[in-house]
Amino acid sequence: MTPIYVTQPHLPPLEEFIPYLQKIWDSKTLTNCGPMHQEFEQALSEYLGVEHVALFANGTLALVTALQALRITGEVITTPYSFVATAHSLLWNGIKPVFVDINPDTLNLDPRKIEAAITPQTTAIMPVHCYGHPCDVDAIQKIADNYNLRVLYDAAHAFGVRDASGSILRHGDLSVLSFHATKVFQTFEGGAIICPDAKTKQRINHLKNFGFVDEVTVVAPGINGKMSEVNAAFGLLQLKHIDEALARRQEIDRAYRNFLEGVTGIRCLEKRAVERANYAYFPIMVGPGHQIDRDGLYWKLREHGVHARRYFYPLISEFPMYRGLPSAQRANLPVAHEAASQVLCLPIYPALPIEQVEFIASLVRN
Ligand SMILES: *Cc1c(COP(=O)(O)O)cnc(C)c1O
Repeated sequence: MTPIYVTQPHLPPLEEFIPYLQKIWDSKTLTNCGPMHQEFEQALSEYLGVEHVALFANGTLALVTALQALRITGEVITTPYSFVATAHSLLWNGIKPVFVDINPDTLNLDPRKIEAAITPQTTAIMPVHCYGHPCDVDAIQKIADNYNLRVLYDAAHAFGVRDASGSILRHGDLSVLSFHATKVFQTFEGGAIICPDAKTKQRINHLKNFGFVDEVTVVAPGINGKMSEVNAAFGLLQLKHIDEALARRQEIDRAYRNFLEGVTGIRCLEKRAVERANYAYFPIMVGPGHQIDRDGLYWKLREHGVHARRYFYPLISEFPMYRGLPSAQRANLPVAHEAASQVLCLPIYPALPIEQVEFIASLVRN
C-alpha cells in the first residue's frame, strides 16, 4: 500500500527544466539577483496582478524582513491559528505577539475582537489568509486606519487568490508569500514580499542583501534573504503549469464536497466568495456528532495509508515560547481551541486521482 500524503509537489517533466539550468550555466550567475531572479519577479507580478514582487529564499525570511521594512516594534496583533513561522517572525524582531481569537466560519482573525487587544504599544496587525481564504480585509483596514496601525498579511496560503477587485495580495501595507515545497506554488524553498510602491520595494531589496545599496554603501543591518537563480528558474517553469495545477485542485475540492455531503458531524469549510480560489488545502471539521473524534479519524486514515494532517494543531499559543503570554491563555481563544481540536486537512494535490479522493472520503464516511 503506497501512502497517500497530504500533499505532493507538482513537478513538470525534468527535461523542461534543463534549458533553464543551461542558461544559468552559460551566464555563470548563480545568485545576487541575477537575470532569472529579475525575470521571475517580473513574471510573478504580471501573473499575480500586483505592482512589485521582492523574491526571498523562503517565506519566513520574507516575514522577518517585511516587519523590518515597516519598522514594526512593540506589540503586534496576530492569530494563534497558523503555522508557527507567523509568530516566530515577531519574536525574531523582538516584537511581542498578542493573540486574538478567530472567526468560527472563516478560521481567520476575528476583526470584532481586535480592538479590545489594542494597547499603546500596538503598532501592527498580522493576519493570515488561512487556507487561502481571504481575511475580512475591509474591517481590518478600518481598524488599522482608526488606530494608525500597519497591516502585514501572512499570505503564505494565498497564492493566486483573487477577489472582485483583483489579487488579495494588494491589501494591507505588505503581503508575504511562501513557495515552500508543500505550498500550492513552489520553488523548492522560496518566498516573496508583495509591495505596493517602488520605494518600499527598494528598501526591501536593500534589506534582503545585507543592506547594500552599492559596493561601498550599507544603509541597514540587512540579512541575506535573496532567492537563488536555480530557485527563480524553477519558479519561472512552475508558472507555466500553475493554471492546470489549480484546475486539478478545483476538481478534487469539488469531488470531496460531493462525497462528503450529508455526513453527520463532518463540516467542510465553506467555499469563499472569491473570483478565484486556489484550493490549497481541504480542511474538514470533525464535530461531536461524528462517530469518532478527530484524532480517532486521523489514526484510522493512517491505518489505511492516508496521511491527513492536523493543521493547525497545536495552536501557536500552546508552544513553550508563547504559552506564558496573557493573550495565549485558553479562555482568550475559545474558537481557535475548538477549531484546533476538530480540524483535519485531507490530501489534495494535482496528481491525486479522483478514485483516491473517493476512497479517502469513504473512510471519513465510514
Ligand atoms: C509555510 C508557511 C510559512 C513559512 O514559509 P516558509 O517558506 O516555509 O519559510 C509562514 N506562514 C504560513 C502560514 C505558512 O503556511
